[in-house]
Amino acid sequence: MNEDRERAGSSEALLRVENIDVHYRGKGFRSRPFHALKDVSIEIHPGETLGLVGESGSGKTTLGRAILGLAPVGSGRVVFDGQEISTLSPRARRSLSADLQVVFQDPYSSLNPGMTIETILAEPLRAGGASRRDSSARIRELLDQVHLPADAARRYPREFSGGQRQRVAIARSLALDPKLIVCDEPVSALDLSTQARVLDLFIDIQQQTGVAYLFITHDLSVVRYISHRVAVMLNGSIIESGDSSTVTSEPDEAYTRKLLLASPVPHPARQAERRRHYESLSAHTAP
Ligand code: ADP
Ligand code: MG
Repeated sequence: MNEDRERAGSSEALLRVENIDVHYRGKGFRSRPFHALKDVSIEIHPGETLGLVGESGSGKTTLGRAILGLAPVGSGRVVFDGQEISTLSPRARRSLSADLQVVFQDPYSSLNPGMTIETILAEPLRAGGASRRDSSARIRELLDQVHLPADAARRYPREFSGGQRQRVAIARSLALDPKLIVCDEPVSALDLSTQARVLDLFIDIQQQTGVAYLFITHDLSVVRYISHRVAVMLNGSIIESGDSSTVTSEPDEAYTRKLLLASPVPHPARQAERRRHYESLSAHTAP
């Protein structure tokens, strides 16, 4: 466990989400709009990982999508690198994509099965204006960075395991040296030992490049491992946030304690010990 990841510098925020609301249109006749995000604010500093945790349906993906311009922000603002981005035109959005990237949960659907890894990685590079030659050099570098062999370039996604595919997706997100990557449950589809290796890769990459992450997961043990700070989401609101070790070991909210009990721990004895610990906390704090 990496419970004391040092908090990244106290510089100006890279991302500020300020009091945003997202409503989804109701489906069907006379259905009401669904209030998916309620007055949500978060901040991410350069080089920092903010873990966003909450149970399924709490609005985590919606927050990631709102930042990426893929969910309708009704009120409030999203400021990235000094620029308000919640109101950008689709074209201005595209030019932002060098700095703001995403890695999704499912490495099986996020890579085009008809393209070689080389073509997949070349896409953002060519779109960013790289020559064919520069782009092949950069592809070699990217594969090396995610610990895939150079000959992976000639192969197709189906030739790789889930963990390897996620490495390709990570390499693609890194192609243009982003400042922030929204990672939406990027290890949730992987088995536990692969999860651990991919999490370590995210951490190594951050140390090498200084990229910041919004790291979305339903699993508190994942969030504890990777995050400097943690925000906990419930029913479209952030109900608790703070330093990773505080939120994941001495949370204020009963809901966060419930998440802690639900997150898997490999050793049954530790699990039992942890359960007693949180139950004793619960006994002393009103729910
Ligand atoms: P999480 O990622 O935490 O599981 P989501 O952000 O995906 O949660 O979803 C939050 C809520 O918004 C859920 O109740 C979901 O059903 C609803 N929702 C998500 N996307 C849409 C959409 N496009 N239209 C209507 N409702 C949606
Ligand atoms: Mg989700």
